[in-house]
Amino acid sequence: MVGLDLGIKSMVALSTGEQVGNPTYFARDEKKLAKAQRRLAKKKRGSKNRAKARLKVAKIHARIADQRRDYQHKLSTRIVHENQVMCVESLAVKNMVKNHCLAKAISDVGWGEFVRQLDYKARWYGRTLVKIDRWYPSSKTCHACKHVLDALPLDIREWVCPACGVVHDRDTNAAKNILTEGLSVAACGGNGRPAVARARQAVASEAGNASS
Ligand SMILES: [Zn+2]
Repeated sequence: MVGLDLGIKSMVALSTGEQVGNPTYFARDEKKLAKAQRRLAKKKRGSKNRAKARLKVAKIHARIADQRRDYQHKLSTRIVHENQVMCVESLAVKNMVKNHCLAKAISDVGWGEFVRQLDYKARWYGRTLVKIDRWYPSSKTCHACKHVLDALPLDIREWVCPACGVVHDRDTNAAKNILTEGLSVAACGGNGRPAVARARQAVASEAGNASS
């Protein structure tokens, strides 16, 4: 059984403490892309050089997309093979965190695509994917004693629980909480309402509470 969270310093944080997929893996190609785009902008309209520059931009785009897909497939296959039950937060929940940096991280990493892959691979191999689709303070809650912090700014990677003194890696702690929460959702069978309604309710309860 494993809980998975979208990491800040890594692509995915596992409840086992492992963190996989460094986002800077794609940073080099993104720099190249930005450079090619700047070059394209300077070329004269309708010129042959402009057409060439445009092709170059398209090629880099395609390469980045391919690499990302490839990486996600390898990772989702591995995780499905290694675990009987996987717990994740749904994209609806992730999108509620209206933070600019995190929003970029979510789109970079393609959390929605990753969860989609886990979903159909779990079906293929007879595994269970539990999606948590209501907001839950997974980062701010101490997995050891359940103490909930008032706030945890995004730049804080490590924190010490004021109640029990356990030192937490932000992302690993969140993944552990997602596992616990997911198992309790699975055990209770959820509340049976459609996911959309539950997500809306979560938006309402999360208002004014952006740093999960
Ligand atoms: Zn604690």
